[in-house]
Amino acid sequence: MSGPVATADAPPAEPRASAVAPACVEITASRVADVGRMPVKRALPRRERRTVGPWCFADHMGPAPVTETSGLDIGPHPHTGLQTVTWLLDGEVLHRDSLGSEQVIRAGQLNLMTAGHGVAHSEEATGHYRGQVHGAQLWVAQPERTRHGPAAFEHHPELPRAELDNAVGTVLVGSFAGAASPARRDSELVGVDMALRPGRSVWPLDPTFEYALVVLDGQALVQGRPVRPGQLAYLGRGRDQLGLEAADPARILLLGGEPFDEPILMWWNFVARTPEEIAAAARQWRSADPRFGRVDSPLPRLRVPPLPRLRPPSG
Ligand code: MN
Repeated sequence: MSGPVATADAPPAEPRASAVAPACVEITASRVADVGRMPVKRALPRRERRTVGPWCFADHMGPAPVTETSGLDIGPHPHTGLQTVTWLLDGEVLHRDSLGSEQVIRAGQLNLMTAGHGVAHSEEATGHYRGQVHGAQLWVAQPERTRHGPAAFEHHPELPRAELDNAVGTVLVGSFAGAASPARRDSELVGVDMALRPGRSVWPLDPTFEYALVVLDGQALVQGRPVRPGQLAYLGRGRDQLGLEAADPARILLLGGEPFDEPILMWWNFVARTPEEIAAAARQWRSADPRFGRVDSPLPRLRVPPLPRLRPPSG
C-alpha cells in the first residue's frame, strides 16, 4: 500500500492537470494496479487529476484475502517529501520502518508516517492474522517548510467521530463537523472515513478547501450521480456543504484541503520538486545511503526501477 507511482499514473512530461475547479462533480476511473501481492484501485494521481489539496496519492486496497504468512509483503522501500496515511476497514498489517518502529495496524486505527528528507519502511503479514484486508493508503505532499525535515511515525489507535444524520465520520486527519484528529498535519487538510446509513446525509464543508470522494464500499448518489468503488469524484472548491443519498450502507473517504500551490514532481516512492532531487534519491536508495536508514525486515528491499526522463513540473 505504498506506491509506486509509475508514468501510467502521472506522465512526467504532462502538464499539471490539477487546476482547482469551482464546485462540480467530476468522476474519473481509478487505475487497477498491483502493490505487493494486493490488487489496488489507484484513484490518485491520475492523468486527469493529480492532487486534491495536498493529497497526492490514494490507493484503495482490497478487499483481498491474506494468510498468516502471506499479506501485503511489501519489502523495505524509501519515501521522501510525503506522509503516508494508512487506514484499514478490515484486517491487520505490520509496519516496520527505519526509525525502529514496529507497529501492527488494525481496522479503525491510523498509521501516519512522515518521510521528510527520507525514511524507509516495509508492510508485512502479521504472522497470525488470516482473513480479508481492506483499506486505503494515502499520501500527503509535505510543504516546503517541512519536507526537508526529520522523519517521524505516529500510530493512533482511536480517532474522534462526528455524528451526522445518516452518517458517522471518523476523522483521520484535520477537523470535520467539530471533531479534530490528533494526527500531525503540516498544511490545511482533512481526511474523513464516512460510514453512511441508508438515507440522505448533509456534510459540512470548508469552502476554502477543494474536495474529492473515494468510495470504499457500497455506493452513493452525489448531485444525482452514482459514485462507486473504482472512481474518484472530484468536487471542486467553494462548497459549504455536500448532500449525498445512499440506498444501502456505504463507506466513503472524504479528502480535502487548501489547494496545494507548490508544483510537485512524483515518481516511484518519492515526492519532490525537481528531476535532480528524484535522481539523487533513487541513486541514494540504490547505494544503501544512510539517508534512508535500515529496516529490520525479513523481506528483500525493493529495487528502484530505471529512471524515466523527468521534466520539472509546470505550475
Ligand atoms: Mn510505502
